[in-house]
Amino acid sequence: MKKIVIAGAGGFIGGHLVKDMISKGHKVRAVDIKPLNEWYQIQNEADNLVLDLRLRENCYRAVNGYNEVFNLAADMGGMGFIEKNKAACMISVLINTHLLIASRDCGIDRFFYASSACVYNGEKQTDPDNPGLKESDAYPALAEDGYGWEKLFSERMCRHFMEDFGLTARIARFHNVYGPCGTWDGGREKAPAAICRKVIESGITGNKEIMIWGDGLQTRSFMFIGDCIKGINDIMYSNINEPINLGSSEMVSINQLVDIVEDIAGYKLDRKYDLSAPKGVRGRNSDNTLIRKYLGWEPSIPLRTGMKKTYDWIREQMLAGSSDRKSSDRFNR
Ligand code: NAD
Repeated sequence: MKKIVIAGAGGFIGGHLVKDMISKGHKVRAVDIKPLNEWYQIQNEADNLVLDLRLRENCYRAVNGYNEVFNLAADMGGMGFIEKNKAACMISVLINTHLLIASRDCGIDRFFYASSACVYNGEKQTDPDNPGLKESDAYPALAEDGYGWEKLFSERMCRHFMEDFGLTARIARFHNVYGPCGTWDGGREKAPAAICRKVIESGITGNKEIMIWGDGLQTRSFMFIGDCIKGINDIMYSNINEPINLGSSEMVSINQLVDIVEDIAGYKLDRKYDLSAPKGVRGRNSDNTLIRKYLGWEPSIPLRTGMKKTYDWIREQMLAGSSDRKSSDRFNR
């Protein structure tokens, strides 16, 4: 049995990771800044703590007496959020920095950092037919402004804590993660959840129009949460001491993603395109050569399969009248 701290446990990926670690019999301390009633999932077996991890003393409180730390805490969201909240995204640097310092001082054995494909050089993402971003494509550095620079800096901070203090750190660069129990409303949601919500709304209201951000030709890959949790485990307990992609290589355009959701819903909508909306880079995909080499595995849950589960869950939430809008402005900056 391991003693594991999961930061950002009230969020999407952190919530699933707590559940996974509890099911494996580990002792888990789950930490998030949100009040408990806003956590996406709560496991009663965990030691659930509400703490602002931007503060150094709270990081000591969080990690003391435990052996491993997974840092999934960040002030983040989809393009609509990160393009308009660059300073807030960069302030998450305090979370990882203070967690690393506390982990070093409290003798933590292993540290996991959730980085992002947003670290990649924007000039390598101008073609929708992206062949896949290799780990080396993060340099020369030209990361996504705000959010991406914070991730790149925090990656390097992990690396230097490894080199200078001998802390074992593992870093995964997540490419768009989606699935049930994530953000689907309120301004922080990402494309898969937003498109599901809009298609379901059309079904409920009878309004047959859907608004798509950009021209719909921009490309991405999307990783289902089940693959993400497996990847986090495998990378954490591997010998990979450099940042590594954790993403699907099933690249689709946003139009193709809408096709999939319409197919699940069983109806077609009239597409309108908002060319002034935040749309991010033109083309992004994950090159999985390195993860296949190290782990003999790569995320492989088909997009259609994962989207069906996501769609069904969001539909259930909408029909039950729940909304996570309330949590969108939870940070008093
Ligand atoms: P999320 O927003 O659902 O979860 C992040 C959690 O961190 C939230 O519950 C939030 O309340 C918490 N948090 C924020 N500030 C905090 C603070 N000061 N102290 C304590 N907790 C704080 O996001 P997610 O999708 O679960 O993402 C988890 C991690 O993975 C993040 O670091 C994110 O940047 C990274 N990531 C996610 C994706 C994705 O597609 N979801 C892609 C790339 C990277």
